[in-house]
Amino acid sequence: INAESNNTADNTFGRQLRAENQINTLTVTELEQAIDARDIYLVYQPKVSCISGALTGFEALARWHHPEKGFISPEKFIPLAEQHNLIDRLTLQVFEQALPFLNQLQDADTVQGIQSRGLLLSVNISAASLKNLYLFKQIELLCKSNNVKPDQLILELTETAAMDDPVMSLDILTRLRLRGFRLSIDDFGTGFSSMLALVRMPFSEVKVDKTFVMTSGDSRESRLVIKAIIELAHSLNMQVAAEGIEDNEALELLRNMGCDQAQGYFIGRPMLADAFIEWSKQSSEHIDSHRIKHLHGL
Ligand code: C2E
Ligand code: MG
Ligand code: MG
Ligand code: MG
Repeated sequence: INAESNNTADNTFGRQLRAENQINTLTVTELEQAIDARDIYLVYQPKVSCISGALTGFEALARWHHPEKGFISPEKFIPLAEQHNLIDRLTLQVFEQALPFLNQLQDADTVQGIQSRGLLLSVNISAASLKNLYLFKQIELLCKSNNVKPDQLILELTETAAMDDPVMSLDILTRLRLRGFRLSIDDFGTGFSSMLALVRMPFSEVKVDKTFVMTSGDSRESRLVIKAIIELAHSLNMQVAAEGIEDNEALELLRNMGCDQAQGYFIGRPMLADAFIEWSKQSSEHIDSHRIKHLHGL
């Protein structure tokens, strides 16, 4: 009986395993098809100045809506793309969509009422892509054809990405910086990297990880970490951005601590291009009316 139930268990397990494998293979194939069919699309999340509230830029975030399986999180399909050498193709598609959008925003006639000059576009770059200098050549070409200068772009890398191979990273990041790209350390504070190696890298921005920001109201530890990050970044002439601002308390707290930029659901959710333009118009009216009231002492 035991042997039989074991056997049954094995079979069940085997079947489950096969099923999982099938889902996995299916998903890779489907992801590849989705990339080929250009089914990956973008949403844009605003980034504002902590002090004035004015829009300073936006981050492009990849989305995939599967016809049967529904929305698949980038937390799932980005690692899959990385594991199967699809990430560079995906990254290029992100630029192919986001650069014309930035260019469109720059055109004051197309988009009235937005302070769109000087907006910076942030794009996430995977660790694996750092080895591919050809990818960055292609990004440069796309910049040219879309009338965007590399210094309007912020390439976001996680600290683990930069620390994977610090010698190679320093070399490549320096080249990218010399070509004009701005560089940001994403999810800062969650990795276990050497501060010394990090501060040698030519980053222009540090993004405080949302786990610290979201717990900043309740946790003294989180506030201490945030304070230390802001101090370190500012002493290195880097800008500080906070992600995961979900309420006014977090915004006030971060502003009082000297944080430069804010991003989060409280400010604006990731939005499709048209919704982003609408949001920008409303937010700039809002800011303008505040300024006018302020100027007239109302
Ligand atoms: P990330 O770059 O750190 O992006 C921030 C994530 O936090 C986004 O999740 C965003 O939607 C979410 N978020 C923004 N504000 C808030 C908030 O106030 N509260 C909370 N709880 N979450 C907030 P998303 O879009 O699911 O992306 C997850 C991660 O996937 C990104 O983290 C990034 O690492 C990766 N990713 C997304 N798009 C791309 C891409 O085009 N290329 C690469 N390489 N990675 C990407
Ligand atoms: Mg990011
Ligand atoms: Mg982040
Ligand atoms: Mg993240």
